Amino acid sequence: MFILDRKPVHVAMFSGGASSAYAAYTMVQKYGKENCILFFTNTLWEDEDNYRFMDEVAEYLGMEITERLDGRNPEEVFHDTRFLGNSRMAKCSEILKVRQTLLFIDDELINNRNLQPILYFGIGPHEQHRADRLKEFYEHNCIEPIETRFPMIESYVEEEKVRDIIENQWGIKLPRMYYYEYTEGEEKGQKIFTHANCGGRCVRGGFQHYKGLYLVWKDQYLKQEEMEERFRKELDKNVSILKKDGKPYTLKRYRTEILEHLDNVEVKEKYDVLKEQDNDNVIPCVCTFS
Ligand code: SF4
Repeated sequence: MFILDRKPVHVAMFSGGASSAYAAYTMVQKYGKENCILFFTNTLWEDEDNYRFMDEVAEYLGMEITERLDGRNPEEVFHDTRFLGNSRMAKCSEILKVRQTLLFIDDELINNRNLQPILYFGIGPHEQHRADRLKEFYEHNCIEPIETRFPMIESYVEEEKVRDIIENQWGIKLPRMYYYEYTEGEEKGQKIFTHANCGGRCVRGGFQHYKGLYLVWKDQYLKQEEMEERFRKELDKNVSILKKDGKPYTLKRYRTEILEHLDNVEVKEKYDVLKEQDNDNVIPCVCTFS
């Protein structure tokens, strides 16, 4: 049951991704920018070009970005919670994004301004299950039921179309992570990154995503590998970001046994088996559709 005696405020969950930009655009078109907020939770791991994209979209919409941040990055959260985020559980998302969103809704919008927030997410029609999960989460959150809306599902607009509109009608270049594609082999033409959050370092990325990170930004992959090694030492536990058959599988092992030898047919076959694990492991978080 939603509270109806407060003035509604329309809040776009703006992440630096194309879909969230389009969801914001449709929201502003319908309700006017004076009744809308472009809301961004900063994890401090975002790729620099995402900030450029967000600024250009905000300027196109004639709005300011309302940014909230915890002040820690995902690694610092893992450190403080003594838990290395992985493909199955990521406290970074919970603390840096969801918690900041709930604090903003409760403290600033409801308590201070007596507004009724309605949240808008950039989720396409093929991801109805994600929309259902978000709807359920915000209806039963710890504050009060919050309404969620999904403009791309309501109007049956797919992400491909959204990217085309942003580039060709708005004249805004997408974040650079969208442009990386495989140029050869059976993956030729496929996008390398599954989403543009956290500069490719998402702990929920899975085997395929980390292969992409290794190929495009090896330095970022190595940073992530070093972080993982630090945690293994500090916690003195066999922890890892990736999981194989539910068991730890380190980035170092992945790099040295698989990624550095992908031109070997047998190794390539091993990679094909590993990437099947992504179907079981990778649980998309709020980061990938806000
Ligand atoms: S995108 Fe990934 S690494 Fe970044 S906050 Fe979300 S779950 Fe954590």
